[in-house]
Amino acid sequence: MNHGQSATPTSPGELLGLLRDGKARTRTELATETGLARSTIRLRLDALMNAGLVTSGGDNAATGGRPASKFVFNARARVVLAADVGATHATVAIADLTSEPLAIERLALDIADGPDAVLGLLIDTWRRMCADPGLTAPVAGVGVGLPGPVEHSTGKPAHPPIMPGWNGYDVPARIAADFAVPVLVDNEVNLMALGEHVRCFPNEENLIFVKVATGIGSGLISNGRLHRGDVGAAGDLGHILAPHACDVRCRCGNSGCLEAVASGPAIAARLRAAGLDATTNADVVALLQAGNAIAGQAVRQAGRDIGEVLAAGVSLFNPSLIVVGGALAQAGEMLLAGVRESIYRRSLPLATERLRIVTSQAGENAGVVGAAAMVVQHVLSPTVLDRELA
Ligand SMILES: [Zn+2]
Repeated sequence: MNHGQSATPTSPGELLGLLRDGKARTRTELATETGLARSTIRLRLDALMNAGLVTSGGDNAATGGRPASKFVFNARARVVLAADVGATHATVAIADLTSEPLAIERLALDIADGPDAVLGLLIDTWRRMCADPGLTAPVAGVGVGLPGPVEHSTGKPAHPPIMPGWNGYDVPARIAADFAVPVLVDNEVNLMALGEHVRCFPNEENLIFVKVATGIGSGLISNGRLHRGDVGAAGDLGHILAPHACDVRCRCGNSGCLEAVASGPAIAARLRAAGLDATTNADVVALLQAGNAIAGQAVRQAGRDIGEVLAAGVSLFNPSLIVVGGALAQAGEMLLAGVRESIYRRSLPLATERLRIVTSQAGENAGVVGAAAMVVQHVLSPTVLDRELA
């Protein structure tokens, strides 16, 4: 994992970047590892210990009759409030400074109720969860994933198609009125990509996460960091023109989008046309799991359509890993088989030599883990932390 530290960590924030791997070290070990004088290490550690971010403990390895203290990152010094908001439900969590959820709740909601109602519900839930005596550490920041495009620099949703009342709404300002800490907002698929990367695939530096559910979207991890593009619109896979989809209408207003032929609702419509009873994503998954051959064919074709569009992404971006998540990924191997079929047929051998295509490992917590990771990366970045400690 890249914590943003430079080769020689000189500031307290940079020294913490080293300790965030969780390994306990003595002052001597830190001095050797960084090339800094022991006196400098002592000063930096004092600053981090005063902030509670590093703790020390005696150690058995006695030197000259005095135990050499070891210093370790204290991930429970603060908590992060995180939420992954979908169209009809949200996952709300309190996480530690390794982005690990300490408590999780799942809520039913309707995103169309608008930002005041939905954010009010999140704030009430965090307040209730924070009242747990085991979770009383100071709040470091808040991270929220929303089911639509978000302008990352402002945290404002930008023309989200399924979120009436949210366009341009100042989400960070609303939350900061209750929690006076940094509030970061992003598209939920970006955060699922980040969560999958930090929790399950920390060594995969170039990764595409694809969500296949009611909509289709993707998030890109490039050189170990979330790639948002110029304003936060990167990864909008669902509205790329798909081969064989030229006259199918999409909910975005265009025709021929990938989402219009390969999303859950598009597959369900195809199954209904074949005389099957399928409306929701869950209906499609149930038919597949029951071994229905028509459903299997339809999902495999959706996988092929997704793979044809993704093949362009493989050629442009050269990922080492594609992770397929979302409700339809639970349908098993059919979707993945279709994706693989198209990508391997359409891509150059060098691009697919090391490429793996797998289903989501972080599952339904990918989004909240990513929301927490986004906040942790910000508040513990040397620039932000050094300013705070100064
Ligand atoms: Zn579209």
